Amino acid sequence: MKEELVKTDIAVMGGGLSGVCAAIAAARLGQSVALVQNRPVLGGNSSSEVRVWVCGATGHGVNRYARETGIMGELFVENQYQNMDGNPYLWDLTVLEAVRAESRIQLFLNTDVHEVEAGGDEENRMIRSVTGWMMGSERKIRFESEVFLDCTGDGLIGFLAGAKYRIGREARQEHGEAWAPEVEDGITLGSTILFYTKDAGHPVTFNPPSFAKDITQTSIPIKRVIRSGDSGCHYWWIEWGGELDTVHQNEKIRDELWSVIYGIWDYIKNSGNFEAQQMTLEWVGALPGKREYRRFVGDYVLNQNDIMAQTPFEDRIAFGGWSIDLHPPQGMYAAESGSKHLHADGVYHIPFRSLYSVNVSNMLMAGRNISASHVAFGTTRVMATCAVIGEAAGTGAALCVQKQVMPRELYQKHLKELQMTLLRQDASIIGLRSEDEADLARGAQVTASSTLTKIGVEAAVEPRRLHTDVAVLFPVAPALRGFELLADVSEATTISVELWDTGRAENYVPKSMIAAASACVEAGERQWVRFDLRWQPEVAQNAFVILKANEHVTVYHANEPSTGTIALVKGAKPIVDPKLEDHQPEQPVVLWSMKGGLDRKPICFRASEATSAFSAENVMDGYLRPYGTPHLWMSEPMVADREEWLELVWEEPKEIRQVQVTFNDNVNQDLINLHAFRTSFDVMPELVKNYRIEAYVDGAWIVLQREVNNRKRTRRHELASCVSAARLRLIIESTNGSPSAEVVEVRVYG
Ligand SMILES: Cc1cc2nc3c(=O)[nH]c(=O)nc-3n(C[C@H](O)[C@H](O)[C@H](O)COP(=O)(O)OP(=O)(O)OC[C@H]3O[C@@H](n4cnc5c(N)ncnc54)[C@H](O)[C@@H]3O)c2cc1C
Repeated sequence: MKEELVKTDIAVMGGGLSGVCAAIAAARLGQSVALVQNRPVLGGNSSSEVRVWVCGATGHGVNRYARETGIMGELFVENQYQNMDGNPYLWDLTVLEAVRAESRIQLFLNTDVHEVEAGGDEENRMIRSVTGWMMGSERKIRFESEVFLDCTGDGLIGFLAGAKYRIGREARQEHGEAWAPEVEDGITLGSTILFYTKDAGHPVTFNPPSFAKDITQTSIPIKRVIRSGDSGCHYWWIEWGGELDTVHQNEKIRDELWSVIYGIWDYIKNSGNFEAQQMTLEWVGALPGKREYRRFVGDYVLNQNDIMAQTPFEDRIAFGGWSIDLHPPQGMYAAESGSKHLHADGVYHIPFRSLYSVNVSNMLMAGRNISASHVAFGTTRVMATCAVIGEAAGTGAALCVQKQVMPRELYQKHLKELQMTLLRQDASIIGLRSEDEADLARGAQVTASSTLTKIGVEAAVEPRRLHTDVAVLFPVAPALRGFELLADVSEATTISVELWDTGRAENYVPKSMIAAASACVEAGERQWVRFDLRWQPEVAQNAFVILKANEHVTVYHANEPSTGTIALVKGAKPIVDPKLEDHQPEQPVVLWSMKGGLDRKPICFRASEATSAFSAENVMDGYLRPYGTPHLWMSEPMVADREEWLELVWEEPKEIRQVQVTFNDNVNQDLINLHAFRTSFDVMPELVKNYRIEAYVDGAWIVLQREVNNRKRTRRHELASCVSAARLRLIIESTNGSPSAEVVEVRVYG
C-alpha cells in the first residue's frame, strides 16, 4: 500500500456533473484542484454506469429560452456534435475530455473518500483534510486544501465533518410549503436501476433468473407503462426505497430493483403481449441511481415558495427550471402516478447562501445535496441544474482562495464580484446585467455593417388549422403599430387576436392583456390579414399575441426558426402518459406549449413597425441571454461576397490583450445528452462558423485572429502580444446555417 499527500487549493469530492463543473470552474480561475471520484468514470448518475439523461431548466422543452450556458452549456453543445445518437459511452468521453482539458485539475478516479479530518466546535467547524482509498491501486491518498466541496450527492464528506443536514420531508409549516406533508418524516425519493434493450435481428429467448419477480402479481402492468423497445430513462419509474434508508439499505434496494427489471423483461418476452421475439437485453445497470439522501443546511434554505414566486435573490448565482417533480414514497408499487409536477411560470433563481454550510466554514456543496427543502429539491435535483450550481460553487471556492475568505464572507463582502465573474464565464444567471469595469468594450461606440429591423416570418411551409388558440411571441422594441397574419380563410369570418404582456422578463406566458383586435376577412388563400394592435411598452419586451381559435382559418408555420420569435399552442395533449407524469394542465407553461418541434417553426406574421430589438448596442448591454428581448445583434440576411461586421470605436487607443466573443447558440433549443431525441443538425445553425477579429493599426486593418469551423458559443482569444488600437472589428464570414450573423456579446480586456 502507498500513502500519499496531495495538496491543492481546492478539493472537490464527487465527480458527478456538479463536481465536474465545480472543478472546471475553479481551475479556469487559476486554482489547483483535486477532483476525487469513487467510480471509474465521471458523470455520476449521467454516466454510462447509471445512464440518466441530463435534464435542466428547459424541462424537456417546457420552458422557453432556458437551456443552460457556461460549462454545462459547453457540455451540451459539444455532446451534440460528438454524440448525436446519445451514446452513453461517448457522453462519458465528452465529460472526461472537458476535465482533461484543464491542466490545473488532478483527477483521481476510483478513489473513495471516507475519512475527514475536521476541527472546531459544533457551530464553526473547519475541514483540514479528507482521505480516500484508490481502488485497484492500493493507494491511500490524503487531500489537503483550503476549501472543500461536497459534490458526492449523498453528502458523506459534510456528514463526517459535522455539517448540519436534513434527510426526508419537512413539515408543511416549516417553510409554509403547500406540497410538504403536515408532519415531517424521513421519506425520500427512491432509487432506480435502468436497462437498455435492442433488436438482435434474430429470435432471442429469455429464461428469467430465479429472483425475477412475477410482475403480474403487482400493480406495475396496470399502473405503469411497459413498451417493447423502450430503454433507459423511459423506465425511470422503476423506483423503490423511498421509505427505506437509500444509502444504508442500498444493497437491498438494488436486489428489489433487479428482481423487477428481470420480471419486466420476462413479461415483455414471455407473456405474449408484446412483439418482442427479436428483442434482447443490451445492458442492465448494476448501480442503483440514487435520487435523494442528505441535504445540507446552508445560510438559506431554498423552498417551494421561492421556486413558485421565482424569488429574485440578490445573491442569485444560477437558475433552474425543471418542475417540482416529486414521486410517491412507494415508487413503482404506488397506485398513483409515478410523479407529480408543479411548474413556476418560468425559470427560478438559486441563491449563493444555499451553497455553503451553515456550520462548516470552509465547505461548499453542489448538486442534489444543497440547502433546499425536500420540495424545492424536487426541482433543483436535475443534473443540468446541479451542474450550473457546481459552476457557481467552484467559482465561489476559487474566489475564496484568492481573497483568503470563507464562503460566508465571500457572500457578505464580495457578492458582486462573484456574480460578475460568473457572468464573464457566461454562466447560467438570468436577469443580472454585467457591469465588469475591466471590460474595455463598455466604453466603446459600436456600429454594424447592417442590422435586421424587420420582425416577422414569411416563408409559409406547413399549414395549421386554428382548432385551438395559437400564440406568437416576439420582441416589441420600441413599439408595435400593427400586426399582420398570413391566413387561409375557408368562408367569410371574423378573426380575433389578443395582445398580452408576459409579466416578468424571464417569462414567456401571457400575464396581462394589453389590447385586442379583430378583422373581418373574406374567403381566400394566403391573405395577409392586418390587425390594429398597438403597444408602446415602457421598456422593450416580448409581446404574446394570441390568435383565437377559428375553424375557418388556417395559419402557416415556417420551417426555420427566427431568432426572438416562437410559436406556442394552447392545450396540447401531454406527450407522456399521465400514469407516469401528472402535470397540472392549467399551469401557464404547460397550457401554452412549444413541444412537438414548434420551437423551430414560428407562425408566419409581420409586425408593421421596424424593430430595434437586434441593434448592435445589444452586444454591450450586459445581458448574455434572452431576458424580455433577445439581447443580441443580428445582421440582415447574409449574401454572397458580403461579410457582416461589428466595429468598436474608442476615443483613445486601448491596449488590447484579450477579446471574448459570445455567439448565439439558441438557448431555446432543448438538448439532451442521451437518446431522448435527435436534432437534424450537429452544430447549432445560429452559431457563427468562420470569423476574424481585426484591429486598425497605423492606418490599416490587421488580422488579430481568424477562426474557421467554429461550433462554440463563447470564444476567448488571448492575443499573442498586446495591441494598441482605437478600432476593433469582429467580421463574420459565415454561419452554421442561419441566414443572419448573430452575436450576443463582445468583451475586450487589456
Ligand atoms: C433514476 C433516476 C432518474 C433521474 N431522472 C433524472 C432525469 O431524467 N434528468 C436529470 O437531470 N436528473 C434526474 N435525476 C436526478 C439526478 O440524477 C441527480 O439529482 C443528480 O445526478 C445529482 O447530481 P450530483 O452531482 O449531485 O450527484 P451524482 O450524480 O450522484 O454524482 C455524485 C458522484 O459522487 C460520487 N461519490 C459519492 N460518494 C463519494 C465519495 N465518498 N468519494 C468520492 N466520490 C463519491 C458518486 O459515485 C457519484 O458518481 C434522476 C436520478 C435518478 C437516480
